[in-house]
Amino acid sequence: MKGRVTKSTGSWYLVRVKDEEIKCRLRGKFKQDDLKLTNPVSVGDYVEVEREADQLTAVITEIFPRENYVIRKSTRKSHFSHIIASNIDQAFLVITLRSPRTSLGFIDRFLVSTESFRIPATLVVNKMDLAYKDKDLDFLQDIREIYEPLGYPVLELSALKESGLLEGLAPLLIGKTTLLSGHSGVGKSTLLNKLIPGANQATKNISSFTTKGVHTTTFAEMFSFEGSGYIIDTPGIKEFGILDIEDQELSHYFVEMRKYLGQCKYNNCKHINEPGCMVLEKLEDGYIHPYRYDSYVNIMNEEDTYR
Ligand code: GDP
Ligand code: ZN
Repeated sequence: MKGRVTKSTGSWYLVRVKDEEIKCRLRGKFKQDDLKLTNPVSVGDYVEVEREADQLTAVITEIFPRENYVIRKSTRKSHFSHIIASNIDQAFLVITLRSPRTSLGFIDRFLVSTESFRIPATLVVNKMDLAYKDKDLDFLQDIREIYEPLGYPVLELSALKESGLLEGLAPLLIGKTTLLSGHSGVGKSTLLNKLIPGANQATKNISSFTTKGVHTTTFAEMFSFEGSGYIIDTPGIKEFGILDIEDQELSHYFVEMRKYLGQCKYNNCKHINEPGCMVLEKLEDGYIHPYRYDSYVNIMNEEDTYR
């Protein structure tokens, strides 16, 4: 039977087969292409399962090729990675204008990650009920001006007041596998609970599980949405590290820079101060937003210190 992994604890898995969730074990070793993974199976994987004699449990016998995935290194220096989730259609980053204000730099780091994993991203501005001051609305205006032209939709909502959910957000989730992320405090749990009654219970379980120190790794959990979509709750935004991105590669993940990349004088141009740099020229001409370019430079410098 073909199914989809909705929960992984590292030792057993829940696999949804049609309307049933079956507790599964792994059998045998799985070949992982070029990835060195600490966990062979992740939430979101499509798998083949066979029932055991007891009819209640099953074994995973095959993992189907992943369309995409989100991974992070097990530790900063490790050659092994932990796969967080796979087969993701879209990533929604929950941000806020205040209480707390999400920084543009943080949004850009997130977008570099999603670009590198080839996952389309949307920005979800929560706590709009609090945004009445000019400086909040100016910030919202900046966000729209910077990200919408790049192809990142911006949605406004209030999870608490339940506005923007049914008309704005919910239709986008139907039939899709959506990764939900955000800094702690932005209202991700509140949102999840409004969208999926019963999600609360599950998220609580996960955190009590991890605070006991049973596992140092947290696992993403996948919730079925209205029977025709899935929402994957990522346990922490740190999961979204920027992995092994080389200096020359970083600009590929800034969509507005990507199109100029073949046009710099030097083909190993880092677009910092090189003569004949097309990216710098376009920045000067106003085709690249200065905030975005600042993020580019900051990420480049940060990444250097990781090595
Ligand atoms: P998480 O850390 O992202 O999961 O955030 P929580 O869902 O725990 O929310 C953090 C705080 O923000 C809580 O006090 C929520 O009640 C509050 N909150 C969440 N959504 C909204 C919203 O739309 N408007 C307002 N005013 N507060 C919200
Ligand atoms: Zn350049």
